[in-house]
Amino acid sequence: MLNYRPERILIDPEVKNSKLTREICDRFSDVPQLILENGVEQHKTLGLDPGRNPLTQGKKTLHLKYFQGHSFKSCPGFSQDTLCCNYYTLDLVENCPFECTYCILQAFLNKPLITVHANLEEILENLGHQISLRPGQLFRVGTGEHSDSLALDPYLRISPHLIRFFSNLPNAVLELKTKSDHVDHLLDLPHGGKTVIAWSLNPEIVIEQEEHKTARLEERLQAARKASDAGYKLAFHFDPMLHFPGWEKEYPRLVKRLFDSVSPERIAWISMGTLRCLPMLKPIVEDRFPSSRIFLGELYQSDDGKLRYLKNIRQQMIRLLQQELTKYAPEIPNYICMDKPAVWKNTMPFLPANHDELEARLENGFLQTETERV
Ligand code: SF4
Repeated sequence: MLNYRPERILIDPEVKNSKLTREICDRFSDVPQLILENGVEQHKTLGLDPGRNPLTQGKKTLHLKYFQGHSFKSCPGFSQDTLCCNYYTLDLVENCPFECTYCILQAFLNKPLITVHANLEEILENLGHQISLRPGQLFRVGTGEHSDSLALDPYLRISPHLIRFFSNLPNAVLELKTKSDHVDHLLDLPHGGKTVIAWSLNPEIVIEQEEHKTARLEERLQAARKASDAGYKLAFHFDPMLHFPGWEKEYPRLVKRLFDSVSPERIAWISMGTLRCLPMLKPIVEDRFPSSRIFLGELYQSDDGKLRYLKNIRQQMIRLLQQELTKYAPEIPNYICMDKPAVWKNTMPFLPANHDELEARLENGFLQTETERV
């Protein structure tokens, strides 16, 4: 398990008495804690100016922030050019202690600290209100947009609050996406069958080379078994798939290992997606991870500005994975994350007519998943 301990905790005055702040500060009572009475200036005094602070060092500072924006919103991947699944994101943590070479956060977050939105009660109250306005919809909500959902959770303990909260929402499902094996603290919670714990999977060789500090494949699968035994529904994301010599053998092996480890009846959905990233990531990766192989593949800049593999490579990869998944579990809904209808058409056995049809398939996957213990 990743051993996380911040070197200092910065606290916005508005959240100094919030429940989450108190819990986190109690857990790290011997770490220096500073209330940021005059925010930006104090950042500079402490040498935390984002322009001067390297990414890895910055992750050792924990900032408990009063977040005034919209933590709950439509998935930013939504686009009329791709087939999307009407997903929602709930941003509570920004930045991640893991070091995946392809991580977009390296180019995207404008400050290197680990930030927690510590006004959690207010954020959840707002989320509950928004969800209650559309009682006929089943909201799928994930927290893994700006961090790994569980990487820091044994230390921050945010997910237990979320799991309890979602267990009482009639029309929403929480998805926690992770590359960790941090589930032990969740196993006895009253989740009510309303939380899906999801793992991002890649062959061991990719984990070794490109997903630094994350749990190994067997550790992730073992954690999935534990979560399943505790009655949680599961999901898996083969994303980002990487194109490397031997991928044609490694991805089918990975699918076999998955179904040797967990029962298909417990899986709500599975997604697939090949590597995509903004070009600005390339110099950052070359600087931080000189032995990374992610830019050795045939990438080109597609019309949305992102680097992707050529269409025929993406199609070969998705088609093979989709066929392998179907061999073991044809009943589990699979979907491609952030790719065009043309790629769906050439790789998948079905093409949803629109976002709503895809969303309905995933909802069905969730509702049909067997719940053993809630
Ligand atoms: S686990 Fe996700 S958020 Fe964390 S470094 Fe890897 S890609 Fe980035």
